[in-house]
Amino acid sequence: MLKKNDVIQLRIDAVGSACEGVGRADGMAVFVEQGLPGDLLTARIVKLKKTYAYAKLLEILEPSEARVTPICPAFAQCGGCTLQHCAYPAQTRLKQQTAANALERIGRCQNFTMLDILGAEEPFHYRNKAQFPVKMSDGGPVAGFFAARSHRVVPIDSCPLQDPVNDEILRVMKQYIWDTGVTPYDEITHTGLLRHIVTRVGRAAVDTTVSAAVGTAVDTAVSEVMICLVINGKKIPQPDALIRRLKSQIPGMKTLALNENFERGNAIFGSKTQILDGPGVIYDRIGDLRFAISPGSFYQVNAAQTRKLYDTVLTFASLTGRETVLDAYCGIGTIALYLARHARKVYGVEISREAVRDAQNNAALNGIANVEFTAGAAEETAPQLLETGGAAFDLAVVDPPRKGCNPLLLRSILRTPPRQLIYVSCDPATLARDIAILTKGGYCLDKVRPVDMFPQTCHVECVANLFYI
Ligand code: SAH
Repeated sequence: MLKKNDVIQLRIDAVGSACEGVGRADGMAVFVEQGLPGDLLTARIVKLKKTYAYAKLLEILEPSEARVTPICPAFAQCGGCTLQHCAYPAQTRLKQQTAANALERIGRCQNFTMLDILGAEEPFHYRNKAQFPVKMSDGGPVAGFFAARSHRVVPIDSCPLQDPVNDEILRVMKQYIWDTGVTPYDEITHTGLLRHIVTRVGRAAVDTTVSAAVGTAVDTAVSEVMICLVINGKKIPQPDALIRRLKSQIPGMKTLALNENFERGNAIFGSKTQILDGPGVIYDRIGDLRFAISPGSFYQVNAAQTRKLYDTVLTFASLTGRETVLDAYCGIGTIALYLARHARKVYGVEISREAVRDAQNNAALNGIANVEFTAGAAEETAPQLLETGGAAFDLAVVDPPRKGCNPLLLRSILRTPPRQLIYVSCDPATLARDIAILTKGGYCLDKVRPVDMFPQTCHVECVANLFYI
């Protein structure tokens, strides 16, 4: 019988839902963080349940063929990446497996096609958004990322997942913090000013001098930068000096915003945002559409992979131009606008007013008129559209946050079921849970395409296609 603190030797031969390694000992499944299939390792049992256990990796006796040296010096401490020790092609295989496992075990899904994951050409430097918590540590302010399952900040100067412009932003911001004595926020005492530095990079601005010379717009896109400081207050010291510094030292610096967050808790953004300088949006491009993005609006973090994600939705939808489409949880209207040119009409529903304003602007920006965006909770607004609005939907697209669809939305979809439903999900477990509800209600799962939006992490996005039969 295994006991807590036992040190065991284990061959990893499977993968858990967070891409942990799984081996078997004493008839039990043993989960080991950072174990990879193929590893022979020793590990100490740290937690025992009835049929499974968690163990801490001690030593690798024979490494998996996929094992590589992480490129980031902070990998062991930082909670951001969980798979840098695994070669990229093997990462995509693990994610394909975790998605398939969730669908089979949680969703009890059978007789559907599991398509191959779409991996990334650029598995580093892909992120267009960073959220750096700022804290006091050892008497000085530090900015970085939270350690795994903790609110301890691991100081970071350079993150290999981010656009390199963030290194410069952190350098300028740290200097500003030192020079002005801005106090980092302390979540225990609920005092201090600066909570998070949130940065965004958009790549839709076109360098006209270069593009005129070489005749192409897309390849010469230059970055635009937006910085939003989340503060437990209403103003920061010396804002003009900060704006001058950022503009002179950060290439592409466009907008500096302040977001006021007076709440305790983990939510990064508070409800009010002031624009200190610049237009208040940056522009990014997916395919031939341009999107304006405000500081608080959701936007996919990996633009190159987002194009593959939306192309998958478009392919699954096989629109003829006659369809009425619902896009629930539509954000700044990206999927709605991607589909609108191939449909009769698309209705978008989104809870954030800021994002809905962006969606409306984005429709105009792209000259698309057959879309209508409504601000409201999907579980309240979509049922009105589905059941009383008179719009008979041919297709519903849902793209909820990690917790999945609100049950009221699923119930409403099942009362007036569109013939086709495309579910875009960033968590295979909640996707599988919701698919089980939808299939029980009459939908049939046709196929699922995983897309690797988040290389070096265990997260995987999936697009599921369902038909009502
Ligand atoms: N489809 C978009 C956004 C997906 S992220 C894209 O690809 O960019 C999920 C979105 O759901 C976020 O914009 C979030 O603000 C929104 N959201 C969260 N809870 C919601 C709810 N109950 N009703 C409607 N929208 C919600």
